[in-house]
Amino acid sequence: MEYKNYLNKTIQDVKPSGIRRFFDIVAEMDDVISLSIGEPDFKTPWHIRKAGIDSLEGGKTWYSPNRGFDKLRREISGFASRKYDLQYDPDTEVLVTVGGSEALDVAIRCMVNPGDEVLIHQPSFVCYEPLTLMSGAVPVIINTKEENSFRLTPQELEASITDKTKLLILSYPNNPTGAVMRKADLEALSEVIIRHDLLVISDEIYSELTYNGSHVSIASLEGMRERTVVINGFSKAFAMTGWRLGYALGPSEILAMMTKLHQYGIMSSPTVSQYAAIEALRNGDKDIEKMRSEYEMRRRFVVGSFNSMGLTCFEPNGAFYAFPCIKSTGLSSEEFCTRLLNSKKVAIVPGNAFGECGEGFVRVSYSYSLKHLNEAVSRIKEFLEEL
Ligand code: PMP
Repeated sequence: MEYKNYLNKTIQDVKPSGIRRFFDIVAEMDDVISLSIGEPDFKTPWHIRKAGIDSLEGGKTWYSPNRGFDKLRREISGFASRKYDLQYDPDTEVLVTVGGSEALDVAIRCMVNPGDEVLIHQPSFVCYEPLTLMSGAVPVIINTKEENSFRLTPQELEASITDKTKLLILSYPNNPTGAVMRKADLEALSEVIIRHDLLVISDEIYSELTYNGSHVSIASLEGMRERTVVINGFSKAFAMTGWRLGYALGPSEILAMMTKLHQYGIMSSPTVSQYAAIEALRNGDKDIEKMRSEYEMRRRFVVGSFNSMGLTCFEPNGAFYAFPCIKSTGLSSEEFCTRLLNSKKVAIVPGNAFGECGEGFVRVSYSYSLKHLNEAVSRIKEFLEEL
């Protein structure tokens, strides 16, 4: 059968993720020490796992309401208020989704019409551009720069706006750079967003992993709540990637649309995960803090190590990635990563997997034990000495 004549043209044209391509090579090699993973190395804290187990033992194996359990939506609303000064009505402004990933997909599809332009700053997480294309809208890429600590500046934003621009996808703390936007940065950006009457999807999945200051949500700034959908979830803060649970917060009109899409496409998010998540939000603050301070220690070690090797590494203040510059080696990001993998069996991800402007950088995850990090860093040092 000539499948390509039958299958969806837009999806056929979307390129597979650059991270996946690199992982496929890694998967075929033995004894590789990896710094490439994009998820916490911690297990989900025991009391949270136990809440999931208890729900199964108690026979709670049915669908939940489409929006998610009432109790969970109330906890999410309370968490957003307590942590980020965000006020959302649990009945109409909270949607529980299958990871932040589903929330992003549903939000993008609800917020654009074919031909609308969607602004995406890069380097950034790999799904925004393909999801935008698959929604029928047009991605417009904004290249952020190391000299601005990979923050999106109001000038860069302004320069990319046309009369077709509808939506900005904002992603801080950022994967892969570790950049964060402080309150003043967001205020400057919001002035441009409001003046041009744009909508925003703010992916704040790493909000609990912020160092040297706490996370500010753009939706908490004046004039922004009505035009913003906040995406968050349990994967990073509570080390719950495999539970597949996230959520969206936003104005009831947008959330009603998103709930419709979620209802027909998904029905409801996993029941067992929702019970675990209620426990996470009620009693998980100390777990977040424990993991955060562990990441903080690793962050200092990794950033310090790269800088002392001569690969300059701007200070990441969020997530669990460092994004050192490898331009001084004269190699491209892919060459650097491939040669490092072949000669020292260390896997890191080429920066251009997160957008062309990531060329000249590599993403190093520090979601690993200090012992593991130490071994990897010594091998990278040897690699550089032998170059
Ligand atoms: N946003 C960002 C920036 C991410 O890095 C990830 C996962 N790596 C996600 C969203 C999706 O996370 P999940 O679906 O597990 O909630």
